[in-house]
Amino acid sequence: METIHTVAWMKQVAAEARKNDRVLGLVPTMGALHEGHLSLIRAAQKQSSPVVVSIFVNPKQFGPTEDFQKYPRTLEADRAALENLGVDYLFAPPPEEIYPSGFRTLVNVEGLSERLEGRSRPGHFRGVTTVVLKLLEIVQPRLAFFGRKDAQQVRVIRQMVCDLNVDSEIVVCPIVRESDGLALSSRNRYLNEGDRRAATALYRSLESVRREIDAGERDAARLLAGLRRVIDSEPRVSLDYAEIVDADTLEPVVSLRNVCYVLLAARVGGTRLIDNALIEPAGDSLVVTI
Ligand code: AMP
Repeated sequence: METIHTVAWMKQVAAEARKNDRVLGLVPTMGALHEGHLSLIRAAQKQSSPVVVSIFVNPKQFGPTEDFQKYPRTLEADRAALENLGVDYLFAPPPEEIYPSGFRTLVNVEGLSERLEGRSRPGHFRGVTTVVLKLLEIVQPRLAFFGRKDAQQVRVIRQMVCDLNVDSEIVVCPIVRESDGLALSSRNRYLNEGDRRAATALYRSLESVRREIDAGERDAARLLAGLRRVIDSEPRVSLDYAEIVDADTLEPVVSLRNVCYVLLAARVGGTRLIDNALIEPAGDSLVVTI
């Protein structure tokens, strides 16, 4: 595996691969790699070659009171994990490569960026879309891989790629969970033992939605009331938001019909976690994927 630190060299390597008609795959990450990231990389390796994994803790997507400084940085362990998987290129630029002095351009997907995560974290998606567009411009991959764990992020990025005629296809991969249902996240390492146990409430609340849907419930308000009961029964967990939204518009739905998401964010101790379930019509019934 070759580790690349500069934009210029990354561009040159990627251009060479494209010239040779290779199917370039990109997996953007902020590092502190876990099985969720590795599943994206394995998916990328099945569908593309060479594979570029980027590790960049993007300052522009953190709010002023958020965890940018203390966000876990484990580059050596990450590099070893990537070597082990047989990744071709690690792109790990320093901040000044991505945001040199004088940098002035921000990319914003209006509307979709302001709701849900965007309301709780103003400017977050503007930071995400700015860095993702830069990575897509630098690497120009045929395929770029993202996790459904960040469902709103995927919707926002797809809109950006469509609106700005970016030639990369966005591939979405399933959520990888611990055996007790907790979605893997680099932030899980902030959880102490008690918080870690309590954090399963997010998954359990989504399961309660699935059970009620399987039993025939279609009313979003009643489904969300059931979800809140699970969260409220866990004193260490406080809900930031929980909504059932149309998968395309991200606007709340009243009753379940089209493809939609249950999206939620909660604080567990001092740690903010997000999770979601996908609800899809299948004949006369609905399939809930958590
Ligand atoms: P991050 O390093 O948190 O920016 O995440 C990098 C990519 O990994 C994003 O596309 C995430 O959606 C994805 N990801 C993070 N956690 C998981 C997970 N548990 N399962 C699947 N994908 C994930």
